[in-house]
Amino acid sequence: MTADLFESEMAALQRARNALGQHAADAAFYREALEDLLQHYQRLMRETSRLIRHGDRTEAELTAVNARLQQLSAELDYKARHDTLTGVLNRGAVFNEAQQQLACSPLSLVLLDIDFFKRINDAFGHPAGDAVIRELIERLSRVLGERGQLGRVGGEEFTILLPGMILEEALELAEHLRCAIAEHPFACLPGHPVSASFGVSWSPAGTDFELAYARADEALYRAKGQGRNRVAC
Ligand code: GH3
Ligand code: MG
Ligand code: MG
Repeated sequence: MTADLFESEMAALQRARNALGQHAADAAFYREALEDLLQHYQRLMRETSRLIRHGDRTEAELTAVNARLQQLSAELDYKARHDTLTGVLNRGAVFNEAQQQLACSPLSLVLLDIDFFKRINDAFGHPAGDAVIRELIERLSRVLGERGQLGRVGGEEFTILLPGMILEEALELAEHLRCAIAEHPFACLPGHPVSASFGVSWSPAGTDFELAYARADEALYRAKGQGRNRVAC
């Protein structure tokens, strides 16, 4: 293969070797062998620099493709873990995250559900309902700050993971969150009251998340039963 590829170069090389082995040939013989060698040598140099340029271009293209792939992979990873409407953690990510947190620390868990949300959809349309969900998440995030993680576990049901927080503190925070929703009209739905009901649970490290969730869900059910727009634990 290599021999075929460099057939004429090999021949030129062989002629140069022959010339080197001759001691009494005339000058024209040596010049011819040298010119031949020179010609092939220059062609090889041109080809080599062309290949180097091509290699550099290919390497730059590969680097760009690699960077794009990494970016796409990060985007996919983000999309797999986040809710598209609100940008908070989705149900799967909340469960994974909470399970990991509970394995090593106690966890206060807040579960909340918008009150009479179906009526909002029915009266103002689904897009208005979506806008309410987004504004509600903004309000929750603003009050919550860095203290915990917000997640959307159902259509209009959300969780807040508060690792290491004691129950009293979690209840106080839930009450703040409730007020942040119910006490000011929503910019996206100014004439209509919006509220949510809250269930709060506290579980020691090592508790299965399903159990912690069931406790908060039970409390939420009670808050709904007692008239909504309230916090229960
Ligand atoms: P409750 O106070 O008992 O929670 O009453 P509710 O009307 O809020 O509860 P219900 O479960 O009867 O209705 C929830 C509604 O939420 C029904 C469903 O169409 C709506 N929903 C779920 N996901 C979305 C969403 O992503 N966007 C909008 N706009 N509506 C949604
Ligand atoms: Mg609801
Ligand atoms: Mg619901």
